[in-house]
Amino acid sequence: VQVRESLSLIEKDRKYVWHHISPYKEEAPPMIVEKGEGSWITDYKGNRYLDAMSGLWCVNVGYGREELAEVAAEQIKKLAYTPMTNSHKSAIELAEKINAMLDDEYVIFYSNSGSDANEVAFKIARQYHQQNGEPNRYKIISRYRAYHGSSMGALSATGQSLRKYKYEPLSAGFIHVSPPDHYRKPDNISVEQYNLLKAREIEETIKFEQKETIAAVIMEPLITGGGVIIPHEVYVQEVERICNRHGVLLIIDEVICGFGRTGKAFGHQHFNIKPDIITMAKGLTSAYLPLSITAIRKEIYEAFKGTEENYHFRHVNTFGGNPAACAVALKNLEIMERENLFKRSEELGKKLLNGLEELKNHPNVGDVRGLGLLAGIEIVEGKETKKPVSNEKIAKLIAAAKAKGLIIGRNGDTVAGHNNILTLSPPLSSTDDDIQFIIKVLKEVFFCE
Ligand code: PMP
Repeated sequence: VQVRESLSLIEKDRKYVWHHISPYKEEAPPMIVEKGEGSWITDYKGNRYLDAMSGLWCVNVGYGREELAEVAAEQIKKLAYTPMTNSHKSAIELAEKINAMLDDEYVIFYSNSGSDANEVAFKIARQYHQQNGEPNRYKIISRYRAYHGSSMGALSATGQSLRKYKYEPLSAGFIHVSPPDHYRKPDNISVEQYNLLKAREIEETIKFEQKETIAAVIMEPLITGGGVIIPHEVYVQEVERICNRHGVLLIIDEVICGFGRTGKAFGHQHFNIKPDIITMAKGLTSAYLPLSITAIRKEIYEAFKGTEENYHFRHVNTFGGNPAACAVALKNLEIMERENLFKRSEELGKKLLNGLEELKNHPNVGDVRGLGLLAGIEIVEGKETKKPVSNEKIAKLIAAAKAKGLIIGRNGDTVAGHNNILTLSPPLSSTDDDIQFIIKVLKEVFFCE
Protein backbone atom coordinates (compact mmCIF):
# COMPACT_ATOMS: atom_id res chain seq x y z
CA VAL A 1 0.00 0.00 0.00
CA GLN A 2 2.80 2.38 0.92
CA VAL A 3 4.54 1.85 -2.40
CA ARG A 4 1.31 2.71 -4.22
CA GLU A 5 0.79 5.85 -2.22
CA SER A 6 4.25 7.11 -2.95
CA LEU A 7 3.69 6.90 -6.71
CA SER A 8 2.89 10.17 -8.43
CA LEU A 9 -0.35 10.53 -10.34
CA ILE A 10 1.49 10.17 -13.63
CA GLU A 11 3.24 7.00 -12.44
CA LYS A 12 -0.04 5.51 -11.28
CA ASP A 13 -1.55 6.37 -14.63
CA ARG A 14 1.23 4.53 -16.42
CA LYS A 15 0.87 1.57 -14.10
CA TYR A 16 -2.90 1.12 -14.00
CA VAL A 17 -4.56 2.83 -16.95
CA TRP A 18 -4.76 1.40 -20.44
CA HIS A 19 -5.22 4.40 -22.70
CA HIS A 20 -7.25 4.41 -25.87
CA ILE A 21 -4.91 3.84 -28.83
CA SER A 22 -1.72 5.61 -27.71
CA PRO A 23 0.88 3.51 -25.96
CA TYR A 24 2.49 5.24 -22.99
CA LYS A 25 5.37 7.40 -24.14
CA GLU A 26 7.97 8.40 -21.58
CA GLU A 27 8.85 11.59 -23.46
CA ALA A 28 5.22 12.58 -23.97
CA PRO A 29 3.07 11.21 -21.15
CA PRO A 30 -0.69 11.59 -21.55
CA MET A 31 -2.27 14.76 -20.35
CA ILE A 32 -4.02 14.28 -17.04
CA VAL A 33 -6.86 16.73 -17.38
CA GLU A 34 -8.39 18.21 -14.27
CA LYS A 35 -10.91 20.80 -15.36
CA GLY A 36 -12.38 22.64 -18.29
CA GLU A 37 -14.02 25.98 -18.88
CA GLY A 38 -15.34 27.24 -22.21
CA SER A 39 -12.88 26.04 -24.86
CA TRP A 40 -10.01 25.61 -22.39
CA ILE A 41 -8.82 22.63 -20.39
CA THR A 42 -6.34 22.60 -17.52
CA ASP A 43 -4.10 19.70 -16.61
CA TYR A 44 -3.27 18.60 -13.06
CA LYS A 45 -0.15 20.74 -13.08
CA GLY A 46 -2.11 23.86 -13.94
CA ASN A 47 -1.13 24.12 -17.64
CA ARG A 48 -3.95 25.53 -19.80
CA TYR A 49 -4.70 24.50 -23.36
CA LEU A 50 -7.28 25.58 -25.88
CA ASP A 51 -8.96 22.34 -26.85
CA ALA A 52 -9.50 22.87 -30.56
CA MET A 53 -10.79 19.29 -30.87
CA SER A 54 -13.57 19.61 -28.26
CA GLY A 55 -12.25 16.38 -26.77
CA LEU A 56 -13.10 13.92 -29.51
CA TRP A 57 -15.20 16.37 -31.58
CA CYS A 58 -17.92 16.38 -28.95
CA VAL A 59 -17.96 19.12 -26.29
CA ASN A 60 -20.02 21.36 -28.55
CA VAL A 61 -21.31 23.77 -25.88
CA GLY A 62 -17.90 23.98 -24.23
CA TYR A 63 -16.69 22.86 -20.82
CA GLY A 64 -17.92 23.83 -17.36
CA ARG A 65 -21.63 24.36 -17.97
CA GLU A 66 -23.20 24.38 -14.51
CA GLU A 67 -26.70 24.12 -15.91
CA LEU A 68 -25.87 20.70 -17.31
CA ALA A 69 -24.43 19.50 -14.01
CA GLU A 70 -27.51 20.74 -12.17
CA VAL A 71 -30.02 19.14 -14.49
CA ALA A 72 -28.16 15.81 -14.25
CA ALA A 73 -28.11 16.00 -10.43
CA GLU A 74 -31.81 16.87 -10.22
CA GLN A 75 -32.77 14.02 -12.53
CA ILE A 76 -30.62 11.49 -10.66
CA LYS A 77 -32.19 12.50 -7.36
CA LYS A 78 -35.68 12.08 -8.79
CA LEU A 79 -35.19 8.99 -10.94
CA ALA A 80 -31.72 7.66 -11.62
CA TYR A 81 -32.78 4.84 -13.87
CA THR A 82 -35.47 3.05 -15.72
CA PRO A 83 -34.84 0.78 -18.69
CA MET A 84 -36.11 1.80 -22.09
CA THR A 85 -38.43 -1.18 -22.12
CA ASN A 86 -40.34 1.45 -20.07
CA SER A 87 -40.24 5.12 -20.92
CA HIS A 88 -39.78 8.41 -19.09
CA LYS A 89 -40.51 12.09 -19.58
CA SER A 90 -37.04 13.27 -20.70
CA ALA A 91 -36.77 10.46 -23.27
CA ILE A 92 -40.18 11.35 -24.68
CA GLU A 93 -39.49 15.07 -24.77
CA LEU A 94 -36.07 14.56 -26.31
CA ALA A 95 -37.54 12.33 -29.05
CA GLU A 96 -40.07 15.06 -29.80
CA LYS A 97 -37.35 17.73 -29.82
CA ILE A 98 -35.10 15.76 -32.19
CA ASN A 99 -38.07 15.34 -34.53
CA ALA A 100 -38.60 19.08 -34.55
CA MET A 101 -35.00 19.49 -35.71
CA LEU A 102 -35.33 17.01 -38.58
CA ASP A 103 -37.09 17.39 -41.92
CA ASP A 104 -39.22 14.27 -41.73
CA GLU A 105 -40.90 12.13 -39.08
CA TYR A 106 -38.57 9.80 -37.17
CA VAL A 107 -38.88 7.37 -34.27
CA ILE A 108 -36.04 7.52 -31.74
CA PHE A 109 -34.10 4.51 -30.41
CA TYR A 110 -31.68 5.27 -27.56
CA SER A 111 -28.26 3.83 -26.77
CA ASN A 112 -24.97 5.08 -25.28
CA SER A 113 -22.41 5.67 -27.98
CA GLY A 114 -21.97 6.36 -31.66
CA SER A 115 -20.88 2.77 -32.20
CA ASP A 116 -24.03 1.52 -30.49
CA ALA A 117 -26.21 3.77 -32.61
CA ASN A 118 -24.65 2.42 -35.81
CA GLU A 119 -25.03 -1.20 -34.67
CA VAL A 120 -28.71 -0.52 -34.10
CA ALA A 121 -28.97 1.03 -37.56
CA PHE A 122 -27.44 -2.07 -39.22
CA LYS A 123 -29.70 -4.46 -37.34
CA ILE A 124 -32.81 -2.45 -38.12
CA ALA A 125 -31.85 -2.23 -41.81
CA ARG A 126 -31.40 -6.00 -42.03
CA GLN A 127 -34.57 -6.85 -40.15
CA TYR A 128 -36.57 -4.28 -42.09
CA HIS A 129 -35.73 -5.99 -45.37
CA GLN A 130 -36.56 -9.39 -43.89
CA GLN A 131 -39.96 -8.18 -42.81
CA ASN A 132 -40.49 -6.77 -46.27
CA GLY A 133 -39.91 -10.20 -47.76
CA GLU A 134 -36.32 -9.55 -48.90
CA PRO A 135 -34.30 -11.64 -46.45
CA ASN A 136 -31.18 -11.64 -48.62
CA ARG A 137 -30.55 -7.94 -48.26
CA TYR A 138 -27.86 -7.93 -45.60
CA LYS A 139 -24.81 -6.16 -47.05
CA ILE A 140 -23.82 -2.71 -45.90
CA ILE A 141 -21.80 -0.38 -48.14
CA SER A 142 -19.55 2.30 -46.63
CA ARG A 143 -16.53 4.31 -47.74
CA TYR A 144 -12.83 3.79 -47.27
CA ARG A 145 -11.41 6.32 -44.81
CA ALA A 146 -14.72 6.66 -42.95
CA TYR A 147 -14.91 5.86 -39.26
CA HIS A 148 -18.14 4.46 -37.85
CA GLY A 149 -17.11 3.07 -34.47
CA SER A 150 -15.08 0.44 -32.67
CA SER A 151 -17.53 -2.39 -31.91
CA MET A 152 -17.43 -5.31 -34.33
CA GLY A 153 -20.23 -4.21 -36.71
CA ALA A 154 -19.33 -0.52 -36.61
CA LEU A 155 -15.68 -1.42 -37.08
CA SER A 156 -16.62 -3.59 -40.04
CA ALA A 157 -18.26 -0.54 -41.61
CA THR A 158 -15.19 1.54 -40.83
CA GLY A 159 -12.95 1.98 -43.86
CA GLN A 160 -9.65 2.42 -42.05
CA SER A 161 -7.70 -0.80 -42.27
CA LEU A 162 -5.20 0.12 -39.57
CA ARG A 163 -7.97 0.07 -37.02
CA LYS A 164 -9.23 -3.30 -38.20
CA TYR A 165 -6.72 -5.78 -39.45
CA LYS A 166 -5.60 -7.11 -36.06
CA TYR A 167 -9.17 -7.95 -35.07
CA GLU A 168 -10.30 -9.87 -38.10
CA PRO A 169 -12.45 -11.70 -38.96
CA LEU A 170 -14.99 -8.95 -38.49
CA SER A 171 -18.69 -9.07 -39.35
CA ALA A 172 -19.52 -10.46 -42.75
CA GLY A 173 -21.26 -8.42 -45.42
CA PHE A 174 -19.52 -5.06 -45.20
CA ILE A 175 -18.22 -3.58 -48.45
CA HIS A 176 -16.24 -0.39 -49.07
CA VAL A 177 -16.09 2.05 -51.93
CA SER A 178 -13.70 4.96 -52.41
CA PRO A 179 -14.51 8.39 -50.94
CA PRO A 180 -15.02 11.59 -52.96
CA ASP A 181 -11.62 13.01 -52.08
CA HIS A 182 -11.54 15.67 -54.81
CA TYR A 183 -8.34 17.25 -53.53
CA ARG A 184 -6.72 14.28 -55.27
CA LYS A 185 -8.91 14.19 -58.36
CA PRO A 186 -7.34 14.02 -61.84
CA ASP A 187 -6.76 17.48 -63.34
CA ASN A 188 -8.87 16.89 -66.42
CA ILE A 189 -12.26 16.60 -64.72
CA SER A 190 -14.23 19.04 -62.59
CA VAL A 191 -14.97 18.64 -58.90
CA GLU A 192 -18.61 18.03 -59.76
CA GLN A 193 -17.82 15.35 -62.35
CA TYR A 194 -15.43 13.64 -59.96
CA ASN A 195 -18.06 13.59 -57.22
CA LEU A 196 -20.62 12.12 -59.60
CA LEU A 197 -18.17 9.40 -60.63
CA LYS A 198 -17.60 8.52 -56.97
CA ALA A 199 -21.34 8.35 -56.31
CA ARG A 200 -21.77 6.06 -59.32
CA GLU A 201 -19.12 3.76 -57.92
CA ILE A 202 -21.72 2.97 -55.26
CA GLU A 203 -24.25 2.10 -57.94
CA GLU A 204 -21.75 -0.13 -59.72
CA THR A 205 -20.98 -1.88 -56.46
CA ILE A 206 -24.67 -2.45 -55.83
CA LYS A 207 -24.97 -4.00 -59.29
CA PHE A 208 -21.82 -6.13 -58.98
CA GLU A 209 -23.01 -7.47 -55.65
CA GLN A 210 -26.61 -8.00 -56.90
CA LYS A 211 -28.92 -5.33 -55.60
CA GLU A 212 -31.09 -7.95 -53.87
CA THR A 213 -28.24 -8.48 -51.38
CA ILE A 214 -27.72 -4.85 -50.35
CA ALA A 215 -29.39 -3.63 -47.15
CA ALA A 216 -27.97 -0.14 -46.73
CA VAL A 217 -25.37 2.47 -47.48
CA ILE A 218 -23.90 4.22 -44.44
CA MET A 219 -22.06 7.49 -44.75
CA GLU A 220 -21.30 10.67 -42.88
CA PRO A 221 -22.54 13.83 -44.60
CA LEU A 222 -18.85 14.68 -44.88
CA ILE A 223 -16.06 12.39 -43.86
CA THR A 224 -14.74 13.82 -40.59
CA GLY A 225 -12.30 11.39 -39.00
CA GLY A 226 -10.91 10.21 -42.35
CA GLY A 227 -9.46 13.66 -43.03
CA VAL A 228 -12.32 16.16 -43.46
CA ILE A 229 -13.50 15.21 -46.96
CA ILE A 230 -16.33 17.53 -47.94
CA PRO A 231 -18.31 16.25 -50.92
CA HIS A 232 -19.89 18.38 -53.61
CA GLU A 233 -23.65 18.34 -53.09
CA VAL A 234 -24.18 16.35 -56.30
CA TYR A 235 -22.43 13.42 -54.61
CA VAL A 236 -24.75 13.20 -51.64
CA GLN A 237 -27.86 13.75 -53.72
CA GLU A 238 -26.81 11.16 -56.28
CA VAL A 239 -26.14 8.61 -53.53
CA GLU A 240 -29.64 9.21 -52.20
CA ARG A 241 -31.11 8.71 -55.68
CA ILE A 242 -29.12 5.50 -56.17
CA CYS A 243 -30.29 4.11 -52.84
CA ASN A 244 -33.90 4.91 -53.66
CA ARG A 245 -33.57 3.39 -57.12
CA HIS A 246 -32.33 0.07 -55.75
CA GLY A 247 -34.39 -0.25 -52.57
CA VAL A 248 -31.31 0.32 -50.40
CA LEU A 249 -31.65 2.22 -47.11
CA LEU A 250 -29.53 5.33 -46.60
CA ILE A 251 -28.05 5.58 -43.12
CA ILE A 252 -26.48 8.94 -42.32
CA ASP A 253 -23.94 8.98 -39.49
CA GLU A 254 -24.27 12.37 -37.79
CA VAL A 255 -22.19 11.35 -34.78
CA ILE A 256 -19.71 14.18 -35.41
CA CYS A 257 -21.55 16.33 -37.96
CA GLY A 258 -24.73 16.58 -35.87
CA PHE A 259 -25.66 19.33 -33.45
CA GLY A 260 -24.11 22.30 -35.16
CA ARG A 261 -20.64 21.07 -35.95
CA THR A 262 -20.95 22.00 -39.62
CA GLY A 263 -23.03 25.15 -39.10
CA LYS A 264 -26.47 23.52 -39.34
CA ALA A 265 -28.35 21.33 -36.88
CA PHE A 266 -27.34 18.29 -38.95
CA GLY A 267 -24.71 17.88 -41.63
CA HIS A 268 -27.08 16.24 -44.12
CA GLN A 269 -29.21 19.39 -44.08
CA HIS A 270 -26.58 21.04 -46.28
CA PHE A 271 -27.55 18.61 -49.02
CA ASN A 272 -31.31 18.57 -48.91
CA ILE A 273 -31.71 14.81 -48.51
CA LYS A 274 -34.01 12.68 -46.38
CA PRO A 275 -32.06 9.82 -44.81
CA ASP A 276 -33.88 6.62 -43.84
CA ILE A 277 -31.91 6.27 -40.63
CA ILE A 278 -29.80 8.88 -38.82
CA THR A 279 -27.33 8.13 -36.04
CA MET A 280 -26.29 10.71 -33.44
CA ALA A 281 -24.10 10.85 -30.34
CA LYS A 282 -21.27 13.15 -29.17
CA GLY A 283 -22.78 16.67 -29.52
CA LEU A 284 -26.21 15.35 -28.49
CA THR A 285 -25.17 15.84 -24.85
CA SER A 286 -21.97 17.74 -25.66
CA ALA A 287 -20.42 14.66 -24.01
CA TYR A 288 -21.57 15.63 -20.51
CA LEU A 289 -23.13 12.17 -20.25
CA PRO A 290 -23.11 9.24 -22.68
CA LEU A 291 -26.13 9.06 -24.96
CA SER A 292 -26.79 8.20 -28.58
CA ILE A 293 -29.75 8.03 -30.89
CA THR A 294 -30.72 6.02 -33.93
CA ALA A 295 -33.53 7.96 -35.62
CA ILE A 296 -35.63 5.75 -37.87
CA ARG A 297 -37.96 7.09 -40.49
CA LYS A 298 -41.60 6.52 -39.64
CA GLU A 299 -42.30 4.27 -42.67
CA ILE A 300 -39.48 1.94 -41.68
CA TYR A 301 -40.69 1.77 -38.11
CA GLU A 302 -44.17 0.86 -39.38
CA ALA A 303 -42.74 -2.42 -40.68
CA PHE A 304 -41.91 -3.36 -37.07
CA LYS A 305 -45.41 -2.79 -35.78
CA GLY A 306 -47.30 -5.92 -34.93
CA THR A 307 -48.08 -8.24 -32.11
CA GLU A 308 -46.28 -11.32 -33.33
CA GLU A 309 -42.82 -12.23 -32.07
CA ASN A 310 -41.17 -11.74 -35.43
CA TYR A 311 -41.99 -8.04 -35.39
CA HIS A 312 -39.86 -7.51 -32.28
CA PHE A 313 -36.64 -5.66 -32.70
CA ARG A 314 -34.31 -7.77 -30.54
CA HIS A 315 -32.01 -5.17 -29.13
CA VAL A 316 -31.68 -4.11 -25.51
CA ASN A 317 -29.22 -1.60 -24.15
CA THR A 318 -29.25 -1.36 -20.35
CA PHE A 319 -28.10 2.23 -20.00
CA GLY A 320 -29.45 3.50 -23.32
CA GLY A 321 -31.70 6.52 -22.90
CA ASN A 322 -31.01 6.82 -19.18
CA PRO A 323 -32.94 9.66 -17.57
CA ALA A 324 -30.00 11.87 -16.58
CA ALA A 325 -28.43 11.66 -20.05
CA CYS A 326 -31.74 12.52 -21.73
CA ALA A 327 -32.28 15.45 -19.35
CA VAL A 328 -28.77 16.68 -20.10
CA ALA A 329 -29.38 16.35 -23.84
CA LEU A 330 -32.55 18.44 -23.57
CA LYS A 331 -30.77 21.15 -21.61
CA ASN A 332 -27.81 20.99 -24.01
CA LEU A 333 -30.15 21.59 -26.96
CA GLU A 334 -31.79 24.43 -25.05
CA ILE A 335 -28.37 26.07 -24.58
CA MET A 336 -27.56 25.62 -28.27
CA GLU A 337 -30.83 27.29 -29.18
CA ARG A 338 -30.56 30.09 -26.62
CA GLU A 339 -27.02 30.96 -27.68
CA ASN A 340 -27.73 30.43 -31.37
CA LEU A 341 -24.77 28.08 -31.58
CA PHE A 342 -25.48 26.56 -35.00
CA LYS A 343 -25.33 30.02 -36.54
CA ARG A 344 -22.29 30.79 -34.42
CA SER A 345 -20.61 27.65 -35.75
CA GLU A 346 -21.26 28.82 -39.30
CA GLU A 347 -19.94 32.33 -38.62
CA LEU A 348 -16.93 31.35 -36.54
CA GLY A 349 -16.16 28.62 -39.05
CA LYS A 350 -15.88 31.24 -41.80
CA LYS A 351 -13.56 33.35 -39.64
CA LEU A 352 -11.47 30.32 -38.86
CA LEU A 353 -11.15 29.32 -42.52
CA ASN A 354 -10.33 32.89 -43.54
CA GLY A 355 -7.65 33.06 -40.91
CA LEU A 356 -6.18 29.73 -41.97
CA GLU A 357 -6.15 30.74 -45.64
CA GLU A 358 -2.70 32.28 -45.17
CA LEU A 359 -1.30 28.87 -44.27
CA LYS A 360 -1.70 27.92 -47.94
CA ASN A 361 1.42 30.03 -48.60
CA HIS A 362 3.44 27.44 -46.76
CA PRO A 363 5.03 24.92 -49.17
CA ASN A 364 3.76 21.96 -47.14
CA VAL A 365 0.14 23.06 -46.83
CA GLY A 366 -1.65 21.38 -49.73
CA ASP A 367 -5.21 22.23 -48.79
CA VAL A 368 -7.26 24.00 -46.13
CA ARG A 369 -10.93 23.04 -46.06
CA GLY A 370 -13.86 23.13 -43.69
CA LEU A 371 -17.53 23.58 -43.04
CA GLY A 372 -18.82 25.24 -39.88
CA LEU A 373 -16.44 24.69 -37.01
CA LEU A 374 -14.82 21.68 -38.58
CA ALA A 375 -11.63 22.15 -40.53
CA GLY A 376 -8.81 20.10 -42.02
CA ILE A 377 -5.33 21.18 -43.11
CA GLU A 378 -3.74 18.71 -45.50
CA ILE A 379 0.03 18.54 -45.11
CA VAL A 380 2.04 17.32 -48.10
CA GLU A 381 5.67 17.07 -49.16
CA GLY A 382 4.97 19.33 -52.14
CA LYS A 383 1.93 20.95 -53.69
CA GLU A 384 2.55 19.29 -57.07
CA THR A 385 3.09 15.74 -55.89
CA LYS A 386 0.54 15.96 -53.02
CA LYS A 387 2.57 13.22 -51.36
CA PRO A 388 1.49 13.00 -47.72
CA VAL A 389 4.16 13.94 -45.19
CA SER A 390 5.35 11.31 -42.76
CA ASN A 391 3.48 10.68 -39.53
CA GLU A 392 6.58 11.89 -37.65
CA LYS A 393 6.34 15.31 -39.29
CA ILE A 394 2.67 15.55 -38.37
CA ALA A 395 3.46 14.52 -34.80
CA LYS A 396 6.01 17.35 -34.62
CA LEU A 397 3.44 19.92 -35.77
CA ILE A 398 0.98 18.69 -33.18
CA ALA A 399 3.60 18.80 -30.45
CA ALA A 400 4.65 22.32 -31.48
CA ALA A 401 1.03 23.51 -31.25
CA LYS A 402 0.63 21.81 -27.88
CA ALA A 403 3.76 23.49 -26.56
CA LYS A 404 2.06 26.79 -27.41
CA GLY A 405 -1.15 25.78 -25.61
CA LEU A 406 -3.22 24.46 -28.53
CA ILE A 407 -4.64 20.96 -28.86
CA ILE A 408 -5.35 19.88 -32.44
CA GLY A 409 -6.05 16.50 -34.00
CA ARG A 410 -4.86 14.52 -36.99
CA ASN A 411 -6.32 12.01 -39.35
CA GLY A 412 -6.21 10.95 -42.94
CA ASP A 413 -5.90 8.05 -45.30
CA THR A 414 -5.06 5.46 -42.70
CA VAL A 415 -5.77 2.80 -45.33
CA ALA A 416 -2.50 3.90 -46.87
CA GLY A 417 -0.97 4.55 -43.45
CA HIS A 418 -1.10 8.37 -43.67
CA ASN A 419 -2.22 10.68 -40.93
CA ASN A 420 -1.39 13.86 -42.80
CA ILE A 421 -4.46 15.98 -42.18
CA LEU A 422 -4.52 18.25 -39.15
CA THR A 423 -8.04 18.55 -37.81
CA LEU A 424 -9.81 21.30 -35.91
CA SER A 425 -13.18 21.05 -34.21
CA PRO A 426 -13.37 23.64 -31.42
CA PRO A 427 -16.45 24.13 -29.22
CA LEU A 428 -19.28 26.01 -30.94
CA SER A 429 -19.31 28.32 -27.94
CA SER A 430 -15.74 29.46 -28.67
CA THR A 431 -15.12 33.18 -28.37
CA ASP A 432 -13.70 35.29 -31.18
CA ASP A 433 -10.49 35.44 -29.16
CA ASP A 434 -10.35 31.63 -29.03
CA ILE A 435 -10.57 31.46 -32.82
CA GLN A 436 -7.90 34.12 -33.19
CA PHE A 437 -5.71 32.16 -30.77
CA ILE A 438 -6.03 29.02 -32.90
CA ILE A 439 -5.09 30.97 -36.03
CA LYS A 440 -2.19 32.73 -34.33
CA VAL A 441 -0.68 29.52 -32.94
CA LEU A 442 -0.99 27.69 -36.24
CA LYS A 443 0.68 30.55 -38.12
CA GLU A 444 3.52 30.48 -35.60
CA VAL A 445 3.83 26.71 -35.92
CA PHE A 446 4.07 26.89 -39.71
CA PHE A 447 5.99 30.11 -40.24
CA CYS A 448 8.12 30.69 -37.16
CA GLU A 449 9.42 27.25 -36.24
N1 PMP B 1 -19.29 7.57 -36.07
C1 PMP B 1 -18.43 8.59 -36.24
C2 PMP B 1 -18.50 9.42 -37.48
C3 PMP B 1 -17.47 8.86 -35.27
O1 PMP B 1 -16.60 9.84 -35.44
C4 PMP B 1 -17.45 8.06 -34.09
C5 PMP B 1 -16.45 8.33 -32.99
N2 PMP B 1 -15.40 9.14 -33.23
C6 PMP B 1 -18.34 7.02 -33.99
C7 PMP B 1 -19.26 6.81 -34.99
C8 PMP B 1 -18.33 6.13 -32.80
O2 PMP B 1 -18.74 6.82 -31.67
P1 PMP B 1 -18.38 6.27 -30.22
O3 PMP B 1 -16.93 6.51 -29.99
O4 PMP B 1 -19.26 7.10 -29.32
O5 PMP B 1 -18.74 4.84 -30.20
